Amino acid sequence: MSTATPPSIAPPKEQTEAGNYFVANYPPFSFWTQDGVKDALEQLQKPAPAGRPMGIYFHIPFCRKRCHFCYFRVYTDKNADDIKQYLDASVTEMERVATMPYVAGRKPQFVYFGGGTPSYLSVPQLHSLTDRMKALFPWDEVKEVAFEAEPGTLTEKKLDAIRSLGVTRLSLGVENFDDHILEINGRAHRSGEIDRAYNHARSIGFPQINIDLIAGMVEETEDNWKRCIEKALALQPDCLTIYQMEIPYNTTIYKEMKAAGKLVAPVADWPTKRRWVSEAFAAFEAAGYTVSSATTVVKNPNTTKFVYRDSLWSGADLLPLGVASFGILGDVHVQNHADILPYQMLVGAGKMPYYRAYHTTHEERFLREFILRLKLGRVQASYYIAHYGIDPRERFAPQLAWLSSEGFGSVEGDDICLNREGLMQVDRLLHEFFLPQHRNARYT
Ligand code: SF4
Repeated sequence: MSTATPPSIAPPKEQTEAGNYFVANYPPFSFWTQDGVKDALEQLQKPAPAGRPMGIYFHIPFCRKRCHFCYFRVYTDKNADDIKQYLDASVTEMERVATMPYVAGRKPQFVYFGGGTPSYLSVPQLHSLTDRMKALFPWDEVKEVAFEAEPGTLTEKKLDAIRSLGVTRLSLGVENFDDHILEINGRAHRSGEIDRAYNHARSIGFPQINIDLIAGMVEETEDNWKRCIEKALALQPDCLTIYQMEIPYNTTIYKEMKAAGKLVAPVADWPTKRRWVSEAFAAFEAAGYTVSSATTVVKNPNTTKFVYRDSLWSGADLLPLGVASFGILGDVHVQNHADILPYQMLVGAGKMPYYRAYHTTHEERFLREFILRLKLGRVQASYYIAHYGIDPRERFAPQLAWLSSEGFGSVEGDDICLNREGLMQVDRLLHEFFLPQHRNARYT
């Protein structure tokens, strides 16, 4: 194939080596600094622009077990007292930020409980936390409350409670339906718990249930992946999200690779993982679903909305609450302290628990929205002209010509599109749009 311009990104590697693959934000987290925290604190002292949407991200860092592919800071050894202390600290953080000029008087349009495992909390802990949240930030304007759950933590009683809190989108971390694969990848749940949790969640009327799968877990096979697709289809979720297995540096799998002197991870190569996701998407499309991004298919695109994702990709503010949480305050990206003890100490000392931050430029905000929205497979140039005064068709003419020459996408009038082949490797291709100083950066 011809190349309209040589790619500045590294040529594709077929084998899965250690490193972060998934692009979750821009500029990369490795460019955020402790120096930047003063900008986040200054931002809190300013009034917010009228009408700017705001959401809340609340982080629960506890899990029953540490999955072998997990690169988050999670705690598997905390007792009820530890959890109470953590929740109390996070409510204190909430009380403090609620008084800041940038936040005071604003109501969230979306709330996201992520982790870790939010469903690790007990029913009384969940009620207490959300009652205190709602007293500070009322949910009467909230369009979406998303909640991540591990199937093995979901009793009927807990699901009833989660539904009663006002959760609209329950996201089940299924990852795989095979007990052996779940076990050797360090997952805490088993297949029977998936069915039980899903069936009860369905019966009590969650507006939206999502199932997460991972293509290419350790010991995944062609036959098992086919069975996973069949089982996921049989459940008829409102939304299916599939990630391609990656092995970041701080995972158990990487540590084992390093100890054994191995460069290649013991999982399927990238072309196989891409094919597996393509096959799953095709099976769901044949059943009437619509591919809505590089990682998602939805049953009904008219009713299945992603308020959290779409808001964050179009200029909303995000309040970070809890250890390691990420947030957006105007032009400043910020992350809370990632360790629970310093986090609690900072909050206890009357400070905001910010650890690192990054003050974005106009150009970086344009790039961020372009890069992240390209994961939807189609963006409109007119959006960027209206919001940023930049036409991406001109700004990225060489990159777009290259994408087209490689058979990954096209420009069709106002639309910049990726085809399925491009969408399946979008995280790799996105680096081509990064500013030169951000390319080939470590992503965490
Ligand atoms: S459940 Fe999620 S956050 Fe917890 S250890 Fe597993 S991958 Fe990490």
